Amino acid sequence: MPNVRAAIIPVTPFQQNCTLLWCEKTKKAAVIDPGGDIERIQDAIAQSGVSVEKIILTHGHIDHAAGAAELREELGVKIEGPHEADDFLLQRLAEQGQAYGIPARPVTPDRWLNEGDTVTVGDLTLDVLHCPGHSPGSVVLVSKAERFAIVGDVIFQGSVGRVDLPGGDGKALIRSIRDKLLPLGDDIAFICGHGPMSTIGHERQTNPFLQGEGLI
Ligand SMILES: [Zn+2]
Ligand SMILES: [Zn+2]
Repeated sequence: MPNVRAAIIPVTPFQQNCTLLWCEKTKKAAVIDPGGDIERIQDAIAQSGVSVEKIILTHGHIDHAAGAAELREELGVKIEGPHEADDFLLQRLAEQGQAYGIPARPVTPDRWLNEGDTVTVGDLTLDVLHCPGHSPGSVVLVSKAERFAIVGDVIFQGSVGRVDLPGGDGKALIRSIRDKLLPLGDDIAFICGHGPMSTIGHERQTNPFLQGEGLI
């Protein structure tokens, strides 16, 4: 990945992988999924010496989106994503925050993302894949040039996103992974919303949720 750099900042009691992603050539960056702990995110931005030009949300769950409204104000940037199907989750963040004891504000992004859209970060271009299942509006961002993806909670090392939350759909999740992520190629490395990084190839071969006839 010659031109892409990332710093992972685990945030919230859910240890969500907020990701500072930047273009090494321009030092322009995006904060992806600022679920909370805004001070720690600001520290990581200062340490890396990059200039944040946008916030990106992979989906509307509290551990990914609860700090987005506050960080947008602090940085004076726009929010892109997720897909509009997660609007109901984003508008309920304050109530969700009370239930989990996490400070949270509802947020309306400046730009909804759809299948086939692109998002830029400096000179990087990320393709948008709409991957419903974990939530209806989950999106995955892929740099085909850098062989790299940000997958939110769609897939993890050794697991897949839970589907028991409002709007979850287990069949849709497996379809999203089978039809949109596996074809990207085994060499694609990804950062997921929780836990360590992996590659599409490693998950194709070893992920217990991706074995068996349902995927063929
Ligand atoms: Zn989630
Ligand atoms: Zn999550």
